[in-house]
Amino acid sequence: MTFKNERTFFEMSKAKKTELFHKKYDEAVEKVKKGFDTHYPNYVGGKKVFSSDGEYAVITPINKNQVIGYCQKGTVEDTRNAIAAAKEMFGKWSRTPYQKRVKIFQKAAKIMSAKKFELAALMTFDNGKNRYESIADVDEAIDFLNFYSYLMLKNRGFVNKMGKPFPNEDCTSVLKPYGVWAVISPFNFPLAITAGMSTGAMITGNTIVLKPASDTPLMALKFYEIMKEAGLPDGVMNLVVGSGSTVGEELISNPDIAGVVFTGSRPVGKRIYAKMTSDVVKPCITELGGKNPIIVTSKANLNKAIEGVARSAFGFDGQKCSACSRLIIAEDIKEKFMEGLLRWTKERVTVGDPTRKEIFMGPVINQKAYDDFAHYSEMAKRDGNVLLGGNRFETGELKDGFFVEPTIVDNLPPDHEIIRTELFLPIMAVITVKNLEEAVKVANSTEYGLTAGIFTESTKERDYFFDNIEAGVTYCNRTVGGSTGAMVNGQPFGGWKASSSTAKGAGGLYYLQQFMREQSQTIVK
Ligand code: NAP
Ligand code: MG
Repeated sequence: MTFKNERTFFEMSKAKKTELFHKKYDEAVEKVKKGFDTHYPNYVGGKKVFSSDGEYAVITPINKNQVIGYCQKGTVEDTRNAIAAAKEMFGKWSRTPYQKRVKIFQKAAKIMSAKKFELAALMTFDNGKNRYESIADVDEAIDFLNFYSYLMLKNRGFVNKMGKPFPNEDCTSVLKPYGVWAVISPFNFPLAITAGMSTGAMITGNTIVLKPASDTPLMALKFYEIMKEAGLPDGVMNLVVGSGSTVGEELISNPDIAGVVFTGSRPVGKRIYAKMTSDVVKPCITELGGKNPIIVTSKANLNKAIEGVARSAFGFDGQKCSACSRLIIAEDIKEKFMEGLLRWTKERVTVGDPTRKEIFMGPVINQKAYDDFAHYSEMAKRDGNVLLGGNRFETGELKDGFFVEPTIVDNLPPDHEIIRTELFLPIMAVITVKNLEEAVKVANSTEYGLTAGIFTESTKERDYFFDNIEAGVTYCNRTVGGSTGAMVNGQPFGGWKASSSTAKGAGGLYYLQQFMREQSQTIVK
């Protein structure tokens, strides 16, 4: 029984198959374009459902005039029907032996792996991720399917013989599923997070109603089709595309929902948590935002730090919950570091059509994010010193998409909105400090606690950082992403403080237990 990460690009590069990687992705781009006129249904109890409110056109952020599919505007009634279908199936599914459930998810992982280039290409249109980021998203989804299968087997379905308090007592601890879970997912990892949360709930014996983000519903639909192909019985997974205010609100209000797993923004997460704990307290896993710092000390290797910071701040346009939005830099190396950072960013952080292999940054997700960028850039120019970027691509060949520049702003007041608030944009604030102690204090002076990084060659500094930093996912000297790029089974991904309600990481050892409740069973002999 083993688990291995998918790591497509890494493996193919190692095998000197980079050209093949690009060829497969490019071919997949042409192929998925042929499906842009697809009308996708919702799925309730295994049946296709077309909403009484009609459908909406899903566009790509690369070009707002380009439709990439049509999805249902799910209604309250659709949602209620989906919950009822999930409830009906719960008894049967929860009593299905875990080994049998696991087989379905392992098969789904294989199917997904065979379709990975198509999924990655469609994801680039769906949310604007470049090919490296989108294949990594698909890989992570495959990893979740395999890793949670592995955990179920390794833990023997979470049934454990306990001690014998009295000689005639035979005691067992059994973890059992709760019932119907609502799974509500964000736009930024439309396959990985959607598949990860759904798998967590279902593999442990719950049934679900999944609601993906309205901006990026296509990956959830593809995931549904894969689960169906893998043999998931009808009614275990129900999928209702629709708005947060209709489908989402019904999910978090309906008495037949036993638990909610949510990844998304803090305001929405807070509301869901309040709802789920207002009467009978129900399990509610919320994975929320971050205001993630990277500390670069005077003992850092500057080349490593420059790349690690730039990749973290500007990978997928700063739209990762783990993105670095606060660079905390030691004053005695600041000048040299900033010079290198600006050079690296100008040379390497190319902005453009993310289906092209040389592009680092595609568009931001939607009109609101595009407008937020203009708003915060103006604020940065007014209240700080913008060292790089600050503009949108409003003319030229990128004008029909939501393209913006990687942006670095220095000299903002310490309690400034840009320093405090999660913007979810490629805007990074620079904060100058005298020493490591001050750096960690600044790093921790946020309500959030998701990820954090440090660059230093000193073990003493490294140990001080790990000992004092308040964050769930922490890294020292990680060039591929100074605060980003957690891998399943390597870096369990969950936040502290306002970043999460449970602080147990996805892709880690304690994730699945959250979807189950313990029953102790005693037989007196
Ligand atoms: P979002 O705006 O909060 O939306 C997330 C999901 O919630 C969407 O499906 C949304 O539906 C739904 N929703 C909205 N209002 C709702 C309501 N009243 N009741 C129930 N559901 C509702 O987040 P996002 O913009 O998609 O994603 C970005 C955020 O996610 C960032 O804050 C980021 O930090 C966070 N995130 C955290 C992690 C983590 O692991 N900690 C990982 C990834 C992302 P609609 O799309 O229909 O509005
Ligand atoms: Mg949003």
